[in-house]
Amino acid sequence: MNYLSTRGSSKLSSSFDALMKGLSDDGGLYIPEKLEKISFIKDEIENFQYTDYAKKIISNIFDDIDKKDLFEQIDLAYESFEKDILPIKDLDDIFYMELFHGQTFAFKDFALSLLPRLISLALKNKNIDKDILILTATSGDTGSAALYGFKNVDRTKIIVFYPNKGISEIQKRQMTSVDGNNTYAVGIEGNFDDAQSNLKLIFNDKEFKEYLDEKGYILSSANSINIARLVPQIVYYFYTYNTLLKEEKIKEKDKVSVCVPTGNFGNILAAFLARKMGLKINNLICASNKNNVLTDFINTGVYNIKRDFYITNSPSMDILVSSNLERFLYYQLGEDPEIVKKLMEDLKEKGEYRVDKDKLKSIYAYSFDDEDTLKEIKRVYDKYNYLIDTHTAVASLAANEYLKDHDEKVMLASTASAFKFAHSTNQALGIDYNDQLDAIDCLEKATNILADKRFKEILNKKEKQNYSVDKSEIKKIIKEIIN
Ligand SMILES: *Cc1c(COP(=O)(O)O)cnc(C)c1O
Repeated sequence: MNYLSTRGSSKLSSSFDALMKGLSDDGGLYIPEKLEKISFIKDEIENFQYTDYAKKIISNIFDDIDKKDLFEQIDLAYESFEKDILPIKDLDDIFYMELFHGQTFAFKDFALSLLPRLISLALKNKNIDKDILILTATSGDTGSAALYGFKNVDRTKIIVFYPNKGISEIQKRQMTSVDGNNTYAVGIEGNFDDAQSNLKLIFNDKEFKEYLDEKGYILSSANSINIARLVPQIVYYFYTYNTLLKEEKIKEKDKVSVCVPTGNFGNILAAFLARKMGLKINNLICASNKNNVLTDFINTGVYNIKRDFYITNSPSMDILVSSNLERFLYYQLGEDPEIVKKLMEDLKEKGEYRVDKDKLKSIYAYSFDDEDTLKEIKRVYDKYNYLIDTHTAVASLAANEYLKDHDEKVMLASTASAFKFAHSTNQALGIDYNDQLDAIDCLEKATNILADKRFKEILNKKEKQNYSVDKSEIKKIIKEIIN
């Protein structure tokens, strides 16, 4: 497969190149040159397991990776999930896709369990004699999923930088207790933006990259601009739709839309790509918290980041610049890189861009605040005895709003376990707890619903390391770690 940059000045001729490089030098994001329609015969729908869908769909895009190698790595990657990789909870007209049965209890495990394995394959196949050093800034869920994914993966080292303030205790513990021989988590004095912007400086620091080169490392990143973060996420939309067909919960003639709680626009873009590949999805529903920049954009055609930033109880969606929206714009605006380039320049220079609102048909958007979110968790629990986390609750509100004037079914991305944000779940349900770490126990006791056993293992594990540095010392700590 060839890959093109959304801004037009770069073309790569292999999947390995695209997944090793991540971001294009022109600032754009890579997209596959063509997306083929994919279909499933009756026999496949009857018999396919999750990993069969993964093999068929991922190899359709990464068509230049040796199938035997790829399939082997897909099997190994999804062994880290619970036995039922993706349970679907059916609550009236909404199907909650439980994307949180991987190692770190959020949907990011679907891509980050596989990406490190593909990087290993790339090193082998391209005869690269250097190791890969992954540097990633995180506001929480990406960091833990990436550390678990890369743990003990040959010829890789990963350092995750998280803000000392702003992430939950459970998220922090998940990162600092990972005991791989190649995994490191470093707290930064400052917020996520400080971590992110200082890392970006390192990615553009030629001298430092030469230093790393001498030490035998190539620099790369595991954030969601990487095409290999996106492709594995296409799979679960096909899997869910076909499973619902098989179980006769939907019929071919039903209209089915997809609702996704959205931050960086990666997960919802995967649904968009699934539709481009032939999956019968009607509309996309983009759900946001109080940081409603996407809602405004979809409803008005104006993307404007000159606005207040809020810290909310759905922190993984607290974001103003949604990187993957660039890929969506590319497709919606006629696959013209010049137009995309111009919009991104506008964003940089003026803090906003405008597109014709008519180009945004077939995507709906809603936003809700913290209080709405907590009420929705309580409503769903009271009515169905079912726990949803804060991010899923935002989507649940959006789906219900959408269904008020659409006679359809909705597949809803449940992006995290309610126990991962147990303090908020407790708050919603009026359950007492002392601190964020005993919140899981309190939630279990009060509801009689059990958390994944692996939560307790994490809470009982010792912290492997406790690095904490000022943002000016990022380079120093990297040197210390690799030497
Ligand atoms: C990352 C994340 C999101 C946002 O997903 P995007 O792909 O960035 O839009 C939503 N919910 C949870 C729990 C997440 O971890």
